[in-house]
Amino acid sequence: MTVPPNGTKNTQRLLIVEDEAHLAAGLKLNLELEGYEVDVAQNAKEAGERLLQVRAYDAVVLDVMLPDVDGFELCRRLRESGNFVPVIMLTARAAAEDRVAGLEAGADDYMVKPFELGELLARVRSALRRRRWERGHQKPSGGASLAFGRARVEFDSHEVWIDGAPAKLTQLELDLLRYFAEHPGRVISRQELLERVWKLRNYSYTRTVDNFISRLRRHFEDDPSEPSYFLSVRGAGYKFVPSGG
Ligand code: CA
Repeated sequence: MTVPPNGTKNTQRLLIVEDEAHLAAGLKLNLELEGYEVDVAQNAKEAGERLLQVRAYDAVVLDVMLPDVDGFELCRRLRESGNFVPVIMLTARAAAEDRVAGLEAGADDYMVKPFELGELLARVRSALRRRRWERGHQKPSGGASLAFGRARVEFDSHEVWIDGAPAKLTQLELDLLRYFAEHPGRVISRQELLERVWKLRNYSYTRTVDNFISRLRRHFEDDPSEPSYFLSVRGAGYKFVPSGG
């Protein structure tokens, strides 16, 4: 495990939300072998109590199929409550619509059962790296900041200020903003955004992109109906104009 710069061992806490006891136990064991502290919640109610009341977690592995509230809804409630813990969703359904639903609900990553244990561990590590940046245990790698209009963004620490006041964006909103920031002034198609930001290939559910553009506009535009920064280019896609269009 990575030891943070202050030299103390940083035991990271994970929550597994899964009602299939043998699967939950297997995941718990393997994650504990990796050095994590792991709790299991068997339903959404228990998960909600743990997440909102009992303790802070560094990441959540969330099964979609739960006996009470499904994982999408649980994730959505979590985000609405202002909790931006990294969430990796698990589902038995491979449909792209499910993946999109998970990401729209605010999940950071998505795995289809049955999955390779090694891949899940890699994704947990990746989610935790982002979390460490958020918590300031790791210095930002530098250069990954953006200022436009009334906004200032530090991508590595996941911090956004609008008129100097902190604003909360989901990981996916930040990823989308970052992709635009890396390509200022260029017209980017919805298909390219789906591929590069959502990691969806050959997928035509472009309304997802439009929904997220609307979210960015609500965050950053003075008048979301008359955008200056996130411009629609008819028939082509979107263009980010940091100087205001
Ligand atoms: Ca389940």
